[in-house]
Amino acid sequence: MNIVLLGAPGAGKGTQAAKLVEEFKMPHISTGDMLRAAVKAGTPLGKKAKTYMDAGELVPDDVIIGLVIDRLQEPDTDVGFILDGFPRTSAQAVALDAELGKLERPLDAALLVDVDPEVIIKRLTSRRMCKECGYIGSVADESCPKCGGEMYQRDDDNEATVRNRLEVYEKSTSPLIDYYRGSELLVSIDGDRNPDEVYADVKEALSL
Ligand code: AMP
Repeated sequence: MNIVLLGAPGAGKGTQAAKLVEEFKMPHISTGDMLRAAVKAGTPLGKKAKTYMDAGELVPDDVIIGLVIDRLQEPDTDVGFILDGFPRTSAQAVALDAELGKLERPLDAALLVDVDPEVIIKRLTSRRMCKECGYIGSVADESCPKCGGEMYQRDDDNEATVRNRLEVYEKSTSPLIDYYRGSELLVSIDGDRNPDEVYADVKEALSL
């Protein structure tokens, strides 16, 4: 299955993607994770992206589109993929459609994880991630419950940056909901529940 995950930052896309990956062994293509890896490795891409990321702004389309198109050429995506955090602008959605058209691998669904913005602010400012395995937890996790690694707060999970990320989402990304509704790919899930309940709905909505 070829799936795009839509939803505001902090809606739970990464958590749901991790569950799908674990159960169905599909590759998880998270542009945020790819960019954070580039920042950590200090590559030219990482250096360019960091300024945008720290401010809660989007990395320019040309940079991110190239990155995703390259990733889609890799053979592990033949079985399907979960795109998380991409597309985030209309230009990215159009470029994705064009590339998947060329590859003759159209999208099967655009899954919207829908959560109220005020809930998101609380979630994101208390979110913590594992330095080792990327597990997404909360301030209550002293160490990673999955691998024992050290938990940290992402640079862009402070309240001012979170508010900006939500504004950017409303302006640039939320129009994609109508874009995918128009092509009859949109499936919407209430994300304001515990992750296992949300996941049960995700599977039902995708007929998995
Ligand atoms: P995320 O982990 O998806 O919340 O992404 C973290 C940050 O990476 C975002 O706030 C952006 O600065 C950048 N980013 C991730 N994906 C994209 C994308 N598709 N387009 C532009 N910027 C992105």
